[in-house]
Amino acid sequence: MVDRDYLSPVIRPEDILVRSPSGVCCELGGFHIDPTRPVERAVITHAHSDHARAGHGAVLATQETLDLMRLRYGEAFAGSTQALAYGESVSLAGAKITLHPAGHILGSAQVAVEADGLRVVASGDYKNAADPTCAPFELVGCDLFITEATFALPVFRHGDAHAEIEKLLHSLALFPERAHLVGAYSLGKAQRVIALLRQAGYDAPIYLHGAMEKITDYYISRGIALGESRLARGATKANLAGTITLGPPAALNDLWTRRFPDPVAAFASGWMRVRARARQQSVALPLVISDHADWDGLTSTVGATGAGEIWVTHGQEDALVHWCATRGLKARPLDIVGYGDEEEIGDTEVNQSEDGAAPSRADTHDQDGNGS
Ligand SMILES: [Zn+2]
Ligand SMILES: [Zn+2]
Repeated sequence: MVDRDYLSPVIRPEDILVRSPSGVCCELGGFHIDPTRPVERAVITHAHSDHARAGHGAVLATQETLDLMRLRYGEAFAGSTQALAYGESVSLAGAKITLHPAGHILGSAQVAVEADGLRVVASGDYKNAADPTCAPFELVGCDLFITEATFALPVFRHGDAHAEIEKLLHSLALFPERAHLVGAYSLGKAQRVIALLRQAGYDAPIYLHGAMEKITDYYISRGIALGESRLARGATKANLAGTITLGPPAALNDLWTRRFPDPVAAFASGWMRVRARARQQSVALPLVISDHADWDGLTSTVGATGAGEIWVTHGQEDALVHWCATRGLKARPLDIVGYGDEEEIGDTEVNQSEDGAAPSRADTHDQDGNGS
């Protein structure tokens, strides 16, 4: 679409990145960012399945993202791979690519693309809240900022994750004979909940659903302090009394829960701000812990980038686009099919069932994404 020979002397953001049916594309550098279909060359922001798909020719990402993709998809997930550290740059046909921490999960990166003095940043998923399991979000000034919008409504204020962990520990103290089952997405959220429990001083072994074992071991191998974990599979009912077990959200409504003594069901998710959501999923102990920026996080970040143009993707696009317009920023929704909140889409790991039982889709709720 963009022919370099016919460019006006002043380059515009859309000369660097354009929307394409498979995601955002840099025609100048010949690559896509988080493409939703197999492409020749992909730059991947992070390993969640809606952003990181198998089957691309060449993949550029952080080492952690490449490793996590390998864990999930197997050795042959891409034709070739190239790891790029945070702050390191690589040039592809006149487009300079730099990765910056996104604060979302281990290895998550914002992709900055620069050409002719103009910079665009595709943030992937991000949060500007503290997380002991990944590098903190780095603000990168730019001309065009592509933001996610998972929790882009003013009702979404995630609050302090430590306070949510205290709720869990309080319940554990109140019901020492019961098992506490915490639904948490297998990649990122589960490890963050474990790390937060350790920060709060909880040092007993934490039990895991088998679907989380490989990823949790990988986090530990990267130096994240998660303490001792055990597989719930090998434990008796008596062992599990008074303990905390983490499982993928779908496993909470599964036969799997029958091994636990009188379980208290908790769920760690930004969606737990919505009470109807917690009720609908039979969650007795909702824990508002999100790996996405909340409304304040999104709007403050968008403002602080200094970008004059904002593209909004996956989630509550309209509210954020409107907010941008009221501040004189040029903004539009991207409308790329295939992105979503990983918790809405479901855990790919759940399909690797623990004990041969058919995988449960019991909590696969609708993907309306309106948070109601
Ligand atoms: Zn994500
Ligand atoms: Zn996402």
